[in-house]
Amino acid sequence: MTNISREIETVSKMVKIYCTKKHFTKSNLCEQCASILRYTEAKIKECPHLQETGNKPSCRRCKIHCFELEKRAEIKKIMAFSGPKMLWRAPIDYARHLFR
Ligand SMILES: [Zn+2]
Repeated sequence: MTNISREIETVSKMVKIYCTKKHFTKSNLCEQCASILRYTEAKIKECPHLQETGNKPSCRRCKIHCFELEKRAEIKKIMAFSGPKMLWRAPIDYARHLFR
């Protein structure tokens, strides 16, 4: 798996956990969570660092700040909620640094 698809998979798992527990959804995400996930996916795919080097640095240190502040806060909230629930999964370490 590429870095891109691994990141997207991790993010979608986190959004799923968050939505299930917070918004009591079952198999599908609510509209709000689905849209934040689409947004994040698009940003990950657009990331110029990934395209140039195939290796994405921490978004926190990234100078571009491609995430809108509001969306960024939203993702951080989701990560803070779902992160600890995913500690046993390896890819989490990879994703956690992204939005810290
Ligand atoms: Zn939701």
